[in-house]
Amino acid sequence: FRNITKAYTDKGALAVKGISFTVPKGTLTTLLGPSGCGKTTTLRMIAGLESPTGGEIWIDGANVTTMSAADRHVSLVFQNYALFPHMRIVDNVAYGLVVAGVGAASIAQRVEAALTTVGLTGYGGRWPGELSGGQQQRVALARALVLEPAVLLFDEPLSNLDARLRRQMRDEIRALQQRLQLTVAYVTHDQSEALAVSDQIIVMRDGLIAQAGSPADLYERPNSEFVAGFMGEAL
Ligand code: ATP
Repeated sequence: FRNITKAYTDKGALAVKGISFTVPKGTLTTLLGPSGCGKTTTLRMIAGLESPTGGEIWIDGANVTTMSAADRHVSLVFQNYALFPHMRIVDNVAYGLVVAGVGAASIAQRVEAALTTVGLTGYGGRWPGELSGGQQQRVALARALVLEPAVLLFDEPLSNLDARLRRQMRDEIRALQQRLQLTVAYVTHDQSEALAVSDQIIVMRDGLIAQAGSPADLYERPNSEFVAGFMGEAL
């Protein structure tokens, strides 16, 4: 991100007020901050679902600022999973590959591999309604992974899960990210979650970056009372 701004309306206030940061390849960066600080807006601009008002977005050495979402090689995992209830698991995971025109044999192989990656070998024939919340979230993850995105985006992926499952899934996501060396941008408002999964945490406040650094930097060396107070709320 190079000096990105975002106004939703012509005369509207800026939701994002000129921010620059890098998500290093093969690492997980969390966008963390209180409600309304601009986390989701930032993630949606990475995804290409919102256009910045000013600034540039680069992915893998290419300026993607005006590129369509489909051309960016990014995948977004939503908080409500957004699985198609009328499609079996295998078809949910295959969806993006079908849209992209990938051949049937290759799709079958890649879908099975993605389901295995998330620990759901053999679940392809089931319907979303037959799976638990955690399993549905794993399907959503498989559906994103199967596209082999340059950047994987998560928007509060665990907010619909109970506390125990939330801890388990965050550890699973982190382990998978490290094992596959995925490049991830991850939005949360939960300090403990950010501390547990991140290589880099970007604390946002009111459309700006308050501080960016490692979990240890932010927890032990906050640069302001705001960051100290906010990170101090971690359980
Ligand atoms: P939360 O944790 O509550 O989801 P957030 O940090 O993700 O918050 P954003 O959703 O990015 O915050 O919102 C940042 C600002 O932009 C807020 O002031 C919000 O009201 C405004 N905003 C977000 N989406 C729109 C929209 N579609 N139209 C107009 N304003 C918007």
